Amino acid sequence: MHTHSEFSHDSACKIADMASAQISKGTKIFAVTDHFDTDLYGKQDIFAPIKASVDTCRRVNKEYGDRCTLLSGVEIGESFWSTEVYRRIMALADYDVILGSVHQVRFGSLTEAYSQIDFSALPKETILSYMDAYFDDMLAMLETTEFDILCHLTCPLRYINGKYGLGMDISPFSEKIDNILKTVIRKGISLEVNTSGTDTFSDYMPPREVIKRYFDLGGRMVTLGSDAHKAQDASKGFDQGVQMLKDIGFDGIYYYKSRKPVKIKI
Ligand SMILES: [Zn+2]
Ligand SMILES: [Zn+2]
Repeated sequence: MHTHSEFSHDSACKIADMASAQISKGTKIFAVTDHFDTDLYGKQDIFAPIKASVDTCRRVNKEYGDRCTLLSGVEIGESFWSTEVYRRIMALADYDVILGSVHQVRFGSLTEAYSQIDFSALPKETILSYMDAYFDDMLAMLETTEFDILCHLTCPLRYINGKYGLGMDISPFSEKIDNILKTVIRKGISLEVNTSGTDTFSDYMPPREVIKRYFDLGGRMVTLGSDAHKAQDASKGFDQGVQMLKDIGFDGIYYYKSRKPVKIKI
């Protein structure tokens, strides 16, 4: 439910190449969800690439439809930063799926994407406050905008722990994380199991213990997202991901068609 193409600023992948890679990995359905970053509004045309992504996705689906179904979506970053921009992107196309993401946190002067922040240069207390603000933003996004899948919860850890090896523990945030998981359940949306870091950072986003907590709180709707920006990363980590979900007790994963969840038994 989560891949990128040449219509994202950080990918050069052709949608047809992603479709071929998915077919060779045995994946029968996948979504193209290019980046739409609210922060870039007014700086460049952020609507045209999404329109092109959706149109191209539909065209490629006609070619590949008998072997693999392509769903069209969008990954909206910071949807809650501007109601007007959010409304415009939602009205741009008939998407199959909308992803809700936080890539930038409203935290003092550190509002650039967390992928660009040098966390090794920050004191531990600042990083803790940063994560606190991150979870607050996640909740604000959930409470003020509508989308289908909450993406890569705890993603800053990919940089804080993965890239900079700071070994940060998220247990001080368990109450906030519970609040987020309960809100996902109450809204009837899905929690993404993002597998993009399983080889480099050796964990899912969110980590397994958070996925287990979601299950224990009653959450059953999960989607798999490779977040692939290259064809070779198509469906990366899915076999292990499905096994991990089964071990926890999940009996299905979901995909979205015309913004309606469809269950696949696992
Ligand atoms: Zn993302
Ligand atoms: Zn993404």
